[in-house]
Amino acid sequence: MALYVQKYGGTSVGTVERIEAVADKVSGFRESGHDVVVVVSAMSGETNRLIGLANSIQDKPSAREMDVLLSTGEQVTIALLAMALEKRGVAARSYTGSQVKILTDNTHSKARIQDIEVSRMRTDLDAGRVVIVAGFQGADAEGNITTLGRGGSDTTGVALAAALKADECQIYTDVDGVYTTDPRVVEGARRLSEITFEEMLEMASLGSKVLQIRSVEFAGKYKVPLRVLSSFKDGPGTLITIEEENAVEKPVISGIAFNRDEAKLTIVGVPDIPGVASRILVPVSRANIEVDMIVQNVAADKTTDFTFTVHRNDYVRAEEILNQVAAELGAREVVGDNRIAKVSIVGVGMRSHAGVASKMFECLANENINIQMISTSEIKVSVVIAEKYLELAVRALHSAFELDKAEAVSE
Ligand code: ADP
Ligand code: ASP
Ligand code: MG
Repeated sequence: MALYVQKYGGTSVGTVERIEAVADKVSGFRESGHDVVVVVSAMSGETNRLIGLANSIQDKPSAREMDVLLSTGEQVTIALLAMALEKRGVAARSYTGSQVKILTDNTHSKARIQDIEVSRMRTDLDAGRVVIVAGFQGADAEGNITTLGRGGSDTTGVALAAALKADECQIYTDVDGVYTTDPRVVEGARRLSEITFEEMLEMASLGSKVLQIRSVEFAGKYKVPLRVLSSFKDGPGTLITIEEENAVEKPVISGIAFNRDEAKLTIVGVPDIPGVASRILVPVSRANIEVDMIVQNVAADKTTDFTFTVHRNDYVRAEEILNQVAAELGAREVVGDNRIAKVSIVGVGMRSHAGVASKMFECLANENINIQMISTSEIKVSVVIAEKYLELAVRALHSAFELDKAEAVSE
């Protein structure tokens, strides 16, 4: 019999009825003789509601207190699920992250898991109990409550599966697997039966929020068998695989990711001399602003334009910093745009195929979409375009690369 770690997301536990449905599902697995550790998210919308409450008191509440507040969302669902299981005659016990205990570093709001104590969970499993653990949270060495970043329950699930050497970590959500692109945006998006860790990591970091990036990193590092499935309908879901099996038969592109969270800033007419890039970016990083894409070119008149993207939330702050830097460097001006989007095509097949980027650019040109920035890696090509063209671009690329037709790998 197997040991499964099953994570149920916010929508899957969004109402009491849905929590009861999760209890039915878990009790089915128990009846088949499997051991189950369940990780739950807060009810959908609850984490945002709590953030709203905090912001109604303070613009920038302390990160420590935010973590105390946000961790309550998951504490509600673990207890309700334990009750629903008990009602069905299934023995269960719920635990917060700090009770388990999930030890993290002390970086509030984006803490990293350092260690997980398995003895308590093992005792429960040996006694035939379902273990229910609050996702998204842990405690640092001093016992302060920490959280793992938005979407962090995925990471709790994978980390528990790694610590317990579970047979599979199953991420139950509101879609029945990982799709070629967000099925809410492209109707013709198709479920992939498999995707490699490498591709999933790119998809997640380029904006596909079906799995939190860290959960994929963790699963890849500890070789945790990971599957994304629907809470609402039965099916095989999508297996995240280590091997690039049948790589020859795989399509060049496995998926399309996109991200509307970015903004672009350009400092125009900076002197083209050594040290300029660092003089621009050091103050930005000192302000704790993460920079994503960077483009710089040499102009004939010995000045250059320097463009980079940041998270949209950091746009105003980054623009202020840049105006100051521009004055110091004698640059011409600072221009910005926070209505941009990044679209990326991802696929391990790119390694062995030429002409992928040019096909992407041709497709966008056919739709009259202007490309503002480009960046590439071995298995992805990303472009920045105006946000208003995002959906058009994703749909056009989806059909240009025949993602609606191709079967990525046989079931
Ligand atoms: P949960 O609350 O269960 O963690 P999320 O909202 O975090 O669920 O993730 C599931 C959502 O991810 C889906 O509803 C879907 O809209 C979105 N999504 C984005 N990209 C993809 C993709 N490539 N495949 C599947 N879902 C995707
Ligand atoms: N409740 C947290 C969030 O909304 C964690 C999660 O759902 O994974 O981000
Ligand atoms: Mg999620």
